[in-house]
Amino acid sequence: MSTINLEDYKGYRGVALNTLQKFKTPIWSDVEILTDEGSFKGLILPRSETADEFHIVLKMPIGYNIGIAAEKIKDVKIFGRKEAHYKIPEKDFPYDPKKPNVKLLGTGGTIASRLDYRTGAVIPAFSPGELYGSVPELADICNLDTEKLYGVFSENMGPEQWIGLAEAIGREIEKGVQGIVIGHGTDTMHHTAAILSFMVQDSPVPIVMVGSQRSSDRPSSDAALNLIHSVTTAAISDIAEVMVCMFGPTSDMYGLLHRGTRVRKMHSSYRSTFRTIGDIPIATVSRDKVTPIRDDYKRRRFDNDVKVNAVFDDRVAIVYYYPNMKPDMIDSLIDNGYKGIVIAGTGLGHVNKPLYPALKRAKEKGVAVYMTVQTLWGYVQMYVYDTGRDMMELGVIPAANMLPEVAYMKLGWAFGQTNDLEKVKEIMLTPIAGEITEREPSNGYLIYQGGLPEVEEFIKQYRK
Ligand code: ASP
Repeated sequence: MSTINLEDYKGYRGVALNTLQKFKTPIWSDVEILTDEGSFKGLILPRSETADEFHIVLKMPIGYNIGIAAEKIKDVKIFGRKEAHYKIPEKDFPYDPKKPNVKLLGTGGTIASRLDYRTGAVIPAFSPGELYGSVPELADICNLDTEKLYGVFSENMGPEQWIGLAEAIGREIEKGVQGIVIGHGTDTMHHTAAILSFMVQDSPVPIVMVGSQRSSDRPSSDAALNLIHSVTTAAISDIAEVMVCMFGPTSDMYGLLHRGTRVRKMHSSYRSTFRTIGDIPIATVSRDKVTPIRDDYKRRRFDNDVKVNAVFDDRVAIVYYYPNMKPDMIDSLIDNGYKGIVIAGTGLGHVNKPLYPALKRAKEKGVAVYMTVQTLWGYVQMYVYDTGRDMMELGVIPAANMLPEVAYMKLGWAFGQTNDLEKVKEIMLTPIAGEITEREPSNGYLIYQGGLPEVEEFIKQYRK
């Protein structure tokens, strides 16, 4: 009896494993699979151990993966075997004394993974050599040094990582780098951008967050171009702020640089997912140029001075109000010792009347409650309706046009510094990095928000 090497069928079990063995097709077999519903060509990929036992994963020649129900497979033609090489050839990143020095700090996310099928086949990306091997253009822009701080998907970022990141940025600036790039998962990139905008102030150099919506083994990956754009920004732009750099339009025409406190991930799968909310972005970026579209940004300086205040008290929460919310949602936060609550209210900043006693109790117990708006665009206005006025009487503090996630980050940062509620209020309502603005530009709602120029272009395609 021959023994099976499970490595040849990595991750597969049950029906899927039996089917692969029956057709003698270990992983990396180049095959055509015949099913009731048609035939599919591609490479059999390893499977995640935690995935179900009913499907076989095939990487199609166009680069996308599909799952095929094992029980529907009638026959398999085998053409050969093409084992994927996880390792990108490492090349020494060339050093050119005339080029600026940029530091890339990696935290994880899709941009750091290639062929990550959760089977162990993850590239330990972010070594300079690997990055140079996969995106050689980076060497034309700067001398890039890299450091992997964390390797997590961004839902796992938290106070420990935010603080570690802010401190690492401070160290690099003091050492004299000309720009910093942070590789990060896109899902919570705007949370981290907000907290870094508060923790790292008066940076002399650009601090650019970058990610990718599609991993670099997919033909439509945005990883390489986003990296080129962000490294260009860090190396040559004179915008010394915390920014997010991602696709502008749905095409690869240009990238946008968004202010760290006004940016939000707005689409679960588009590459142009990040949008500036309540304002317009700071600049566009192409492969070799950064073009500001406003001029009220902090300019690059040629010193190494930066203020790092890396503190966060995690006894704060966001409550997303929904109709019929019960007061026990607020009560449980009070009873669990939370110090501050950010409410994302409806319309101009409202919640229902049954919540009032809980809000009153929050005030009595010294829990700070701030109001933001679910509409994201626009300001909290608590003088317009009775509801708003009632809530202010109950001690709810309007947070102007701070985005809910930004207010949450700022509240944690404020409580990290003091428990004095008046001081917390002063910190919350004093704009530090564009999180509260005097007014929204009238064209901000339309332009560059997947807005007019792109829509026009799109429509033109169909109006021939
Ligand atoms: N889930 C991933 C993350 O945020 C998605 C991404 O990187 O785009 O880490």
